[in-house]
Formats: sequence, structure tokens, C-alpha cells
Amino acid sequence: MNLFRICGIQLSVHVSFLLLLAYVAWEGWTAAAWQGAVWTLTYMLALFACVTLHELGHAFAARRFGVQVPRILLLPIGGMAEMDSIPRKPREEIIIALAGPAVNYVIIAVLMIFVRFPAGWNPMYFSLTTAELMRHLVLVNLVMGVFNLLPAFPMDGGRVFRALLAMRMPYLKATQTAVGVGKIIAMAGAAYLLYKGIYLGALLFAFIIFAGSRELQSVIRTEQAAEHWRQFQARLAPPLEAPSTEPPHRVL
Ligand SMILES: [Zn+2]
Repeated sequence: MNLFRICGIQLSVHVSFLLLLAYVAWEGWTAAAWQGAVWTLTYMLALFACVTLHELGHAFAARRFGVQVPRILLLPIGGMAEMDSIPRKPREEIIIALAGPAVNYVIIAVLMIFVRFPAGWNPMYFSLTTAELMRHLVLVNLVMGVFNLLPAFPMDGGRVFRALLAMRMPYLKATQTAVGVGKIIAMAGAAYLLYKGIYLGALLFAFIIFAGSRELQSVIRTEQAAEHWRQFQARLAPPLEAPSTEPPHRVL
């Protein structure tokens, strides 16, 4: 579902996002009737506003390097900025990847002007107040800022890892290595969260494994197409620009 455009970028939510809102409203209602439902819904919408700002961080950084970002999509497991390409220059990919978590740290810095954490604060036992909501937003931005920096490609930390590898080895090998490491981390994370009964988190790791494989396939196809084109060109003159075969890329 398309919501609205932000500086030319379409903000969309997946239909399943409504299920998530209905679920958290129900959880809030069973805990504390209307007051609970309003609190949990407000919290969830504020949380996804932060997710959107995180994705906008990626999007605006990418635009600086000439990348088109037609859409930001929100899912119950998080958000993604869809880009027409990922720059192969490691420095540019690192800046785009770090721009997302950087936004979370800016949000924390702004919130901390207003928020105080009482001694012995326990996030599991909370009152339905605005102050408590702000404290939880600080906490969830910290989780987003740290979690996204895990070197599990194609998460932000994984992109930084791939870019650092690509400074020392061919792009394809760097991607293969980053995807391999990412799969190990994601499988360990999924197993742990399944054990803990956090199914949405486990689903996120499953998605990371899927998205990593897809992006690796995309890089392999691009390399093969470029190689065919080089061989074709060797027999033809004048030299031509290789056509792009890359499908849309998703920066989480
Ligand atoms: Zn991100």
C-alpha cells in the first residue's frame, strides 16, 4: 500500500504491517484496555517512523552518489530502501550503509535532551506514560543502531564488511565471503531467537539469508554478463558500454 512521497521517494507499507498493528493493539488492550491499546499503537507507529528515518538516511546518502531510490518499503520485520544499483566503490557503499544507523544515533541524541532514566529502570515493567514511551524509543533506536551493524550481509554492517573486503579482493569474492559469514551469523541468530520464542526476529534472520543469496546471484549474473560483453567486444569495434542487468537492490 502506498502511503505518501517524501522528497520524491514513495513510502509504502506491506499489507502484513496492518496485522502487526492489530496484534500490538490487541496486546495493549488485554494488558490495560483503551489506555494500553493507545500506548502500544503510538509506540509502534513511532518505532516505524524511526525505521523510516533510518531508511531515509540510506536513501539520501545513496542519492548523493547518483543512485535512484524509488521506494521505501515497511514490513513487520523492518524497512528497506529499494535502490536501482549499489555503488561498487567501497567508500560509497560504506557511507550509504553507515548513514542508516547514524540516523538512529542522532535520534537518540535528540531524545536524550528530554528523557531521563530513573535508577533501576527495567524496560520489562513499565507504566503507560509519555515519558516511558520516550525511554522505550531511546532503547529501540539503540537496538536498531547496534543490531544493524552486525556483519550479516546484506544488513548494514555486512555491507561495510563487503566493502572493506572489496578493497583487498575482487568484488565477487568479497561478496561471496560476506554472504557466507552473514549466513552463519543469521542461522545462529535465527536458532537462538526460535529457542527464545521470538518468531518475528527469527523471520528477520531467515529473510537476511534469502536476501544475501539473492544479492550474490545478482553479482554473479552481472559479472557473467560483463565477461560475455568483454569477449563480444574483443571481436567488435568500436567499444560500447555494457548494458546493466542488475535488478533492484534492497538496503535494509
Ligand atoms: Zn539500514
